Amino acid sequence: MNAALPSMTKPAFERLAAVLRKLARTPPQVLLLEGGREDERADAARYGAACCNCPRSDANGAPCLACPACRQIMAGEYPDMYLYDGRIRNKEDQENPGIVRAFTVENTRILRRKLHDMPPHGEGRRVVVITGIDQNRDEAANAMLKLLEDPLPGTVFILLTPQREQLLPTLVSRSFCLTLPWPDIHAGNNDTAAWEKKLADFLREGRGFLEDVAARGAVDALSAENLLVACQKACGEAFSQKTPSDGSDMALKQVFSALDTRRLTQAVKWIFEAQEALRQNVTPARVLEALAARLFVLRAQKT
Ligand SMILES: [Zn+2]
Repeated sequence: MNAALPSMTKPAFERLAAVLRKLARTPPQVLLLEGGREDERADAARYGAACCNCPRSDANGAPCLACPACRQIMAGEYPDMYLYDGRIRNKEDQENPGIVRAFTVENTRILRRKLHDMPPHGEGRRVVVITGIDQNRDEAANAMLKLLEDPLPGTVFILLTPQREQLLPTLVSRSFCLTLPWPDIHAGNNDTAAWEKKLADFLREGRGFLEDVAARGAVDALSAENLLVACQKACGEAFSQKTPSDGSDMALKQVFSALDTRRLTQAVKWIFEAQEALRQNVTPARVLEALAARLFVLRAQKT
């Protein structure tokens, strides 16, 4: 498989890839991909788009990932694929529009017109991939709902989110939801489990974590990233009332399970913001300190 979609070559993603291939035959109007890491969700969306558009897919519906259509999809340049990110600012989008556009009311209006009035470029399906939207961005969410009002045969919307609870329930209820496999954060010789425990203790008792994290060189980017995934996973399990798949993150799950839905939704949002900050090279210790402090206050709030 082509290295351009590295996540989809992982054994853990085989099942997801198989489901995406099957769905491509009669895709749902809205496909929601949650869980995993951001790059993995983006890869899964592109794989799904390739399944819908590769003219050389095999008998199982697997895209070749080598033809011009597949290549354009992987590069984000396929003319029937539209990419949006709710986190891109309006101004930035207007001054320096990239492959991925801002999910603004104006841009959705243009998209709507294109989808309704213009024929697709290719023979396959049009795919609209939207990431970075959450319940707090009312305008974009409403624009999204408006887009879905009229049926658009031949168009698939793919929503990417760390956790489905970040989106408006009305959007989720219209979506076919798929959860990506969780990254194996405890693989190899790393200290993720220890950090999970320290964070859980801090959130319960208000002690320890901040000092430990602030110690010079105590936490690197990978440990921080793993800890954030552990939090994300614990929140997901708290939402679905599931028992953790492995025992190590039990303590964190208990902490998050004690939150009501409103606070849990807020926690998920902050965890995602922390992941963003890490990606933008904010010092890992800083990111974790800020998140831990916010979560501590959130936990102490009255419901
Ligand atoms: Zn192809």
